[in-house]
Amino acid sequence: MPARTFDVIVVGTGAGGGTVMKVLCEAGLSVCAINSGPRLEPAKHYQLHRQVYDLKYRGFGDPMRLKGKAHQEPYSVEESEYSEGKDLFEHDVAYSNGPGTDWYWKRCKATGGKANFWGRSSARYGDIDFKAADLDGFGENWPVDYAEISPWFSKAERYMGVASTVQNRPSNPDGEYLPPIPWRCIDYIIQKGAEKIGLPYLPDRCAQLTVAHNGHPACHYCGNCSRGCDVGAFFSPTWFTIPDAEATKNLTLLTNALVRRVLVDDAGMAKGVAYVDRATRQEVEVYSKVVVLAASCVETAHIMLNSKSRHWPTGIANSSGQLGRNLCDHLYGSPGYGYLPQLLGQPATPDSIADSTVAWMPRWQNLKNPREEKFVRGYSVYIGGGCGEFPGHYNQIEGFGAEYKRNIKRYYPTPIGALIQAPSLPSPTNYVDIDPEKKDIFGIPQIRFHFQWGQNELLMWEHSKQMMMDLFKAMGGEMWGADDEPNRPGTSLHETGVCRFGSDPKTSVTNKWAQTHDVPNLYICDASIFPSPTDKTTTMPIIAFAMRTCDYMLGNFSKGVHDRA
Ligand SMILES: Cc1cc2nc3c(=O)[nH]c(=O)nc-3n(C[C@H](O)[C@H](O)[C@H](O)COP(=O)(O)OP(=O)(O)OC[C@H]3O[C@@H](n4cnc5c(N)ncnc54)[C@H](O)[C@@H]3O)c2cc1C
Ligand code: SF4
Repeated sequence: MPARTFDVIVVGTGAGGGTVMKVLCEAGLSVCAINSGPRLEPAKHYQLHRQVYDLKYRGFGDPMRLKGKAHQEPYSVEESEYSEGKDLFEHDVAYSNGPGTDWYWKRCKATGGKANFWGRSSARYGDIDFKAADLDGFGENWPVDYAEISPWFSKAERYMGVASTVQNRPSNPDGEYLPPIPWRCIDYIIQKGAEKIGLPYLPDRCAQLTVAHNGHPACHYCGNCSRGCDVGAFFSPTWFTIPDAEATKNLTLLTNALVRRVLVDDAGMAKGVAYVDRATRQEVEVYSKVVVLAASCVETAHIMLNSKSRHWPTGIANSSGQLGRNLCDHLYGSPGYGYLPQLLGQPATPDSIADSTVAWMPRWQNLKNPREEKFVRGYSVYIGGGCGEFPGHYNQIEGFGAEYKRNIKRYYPTPIGALIQAPSLPSPTNYVDIDPEKKDIFGIPQIRFHFQWGQNELLMWEHSKQMMMDLFKAMGGEMWGADDEPNRPGTSLHETGVCRFGSDPKTSVTNKWAQTHDVPNLYICDASIFPSPTDKTTTMPIIAFAMRTCDYMLGNFSKGVHDRA
């Protein structure tokens, strides 16, 4: 029997792939979605609404769970005993770091990917981001402007449900919002202090449902978001796009299927993909008219670099030589943490929204003049605090025994901590390639990272430390300290740029629609197409750009662009 040819194969079911599945299935196409790990089932995998003392390993998980795994490093926050499940996170497929690189690559291999556990911050990008290269001369402009993408941001926001307010800031275009998340006492104190020194402190744009939305329930503020939501009150593919795609009956979902390369026909066009079945370790081929890669930024480049053929000797659709280049990330770290003495002695309020990005300080630097500061572009800051279930300040105060416990309680409602989000600039020395020496346990050549923080983002880091000292003073806070160094690269999970889009096929991998220049039936729907990061996060834009790409692809289907003999 001839093998079935789907209209579209989508690799990955996360924010990008899930959106593609939903839109194309609803348009009537037959879609085969391929996911490297198992299906995530909230009722089975989430251990929410329990106290740590009810969990066998007090929330830290079985210390032997990585025994024998190829990639031993545990992942912070999201990989805990609360969301351990069976193999939700990638520890079978190892990766390499080049000399001097310490990239931390956290991967969720379950269906829905990292957006099952994400922070939900969902701001729009603006022309200050898209045209940054024109303003300061670094990197490349994006091949779109705000007027073109803004309706797609609206579409994504309306679907996801994003809570915020209209703020009229130049770095931070306003969108279509649900009511904002209610503020805590700390937010009013911080805002007042920030105002005194001319800094913004505003409700974040948060994809968490403050009211019931599109058939999804409103949040009940249990504060468990980073462990996954068991009622679907924030946007995640598990609760939104995957069920929508399945409802059409046009979806075939393959799980535990690790795609290793894109298959090509005699003309070098995509004809399907080859994956490794994790259970049998056999290689299987699936065929389609169009292939969409949405395996997350670096993994998409990994698959493409491994897709070598007579037509594509350095990886599929790599005639520009840009595949794997321009790796960027957000520099993360705490430029200041401490407490608000005015709240000492106040009762701990079970606000339970401490896990949400309730408020943020959107970029305030280099707004009037792109070179006001010693660095170009700009960063944003999130400030966390509130009465979370677990006292996050346990490692910020010193002590031992009863006295230490008393102090934990005494400070309970008061601690706050800042997190900087500073975009790196594209650099020729920051990239990924295939490690010529190493293969993973499935025999697939490993990806290798080459990355160092650049001077520009390190200047932002220093600047943010001074700004946080000023802010603590202005709001009457006491600082306990600041991180000595930024976090390891990769920590933010906002990597961009290894398949950048652009108008010129000589300098970019895809066109402005995320269709590869070289292979018209191969599209990319994740943050690898973004030429540079901004001071904002990536997920809502991934979804907006994926919706737009699908619209364009559907037009191409109706024009017969994807018909082949
Ligand atoms: C704790 C945390 C907080 C975060 N906070 C924010 C935030 O506040 N705002 C924000 O915008 N973003 C945030 N992020 C990042 C956000 O989750 C990602 O930007 C987003 O989920 C990326 O979506 P994606 O579809 O590109 O990739 P992923 O979510 O990684 O999905 C990729 C999918 O592809 C599959 N896959 C991978 N390789 C293969 C292969 N070879 N074959 C087959 N399938 C494959 C995986 O199984 C996965 O399902 C956060 C992430 C975490 C974990
Ligand atoms: S706080 Fe709201 S969104 Fe977060 S896990 Fe609880 S119900 Fe879900």
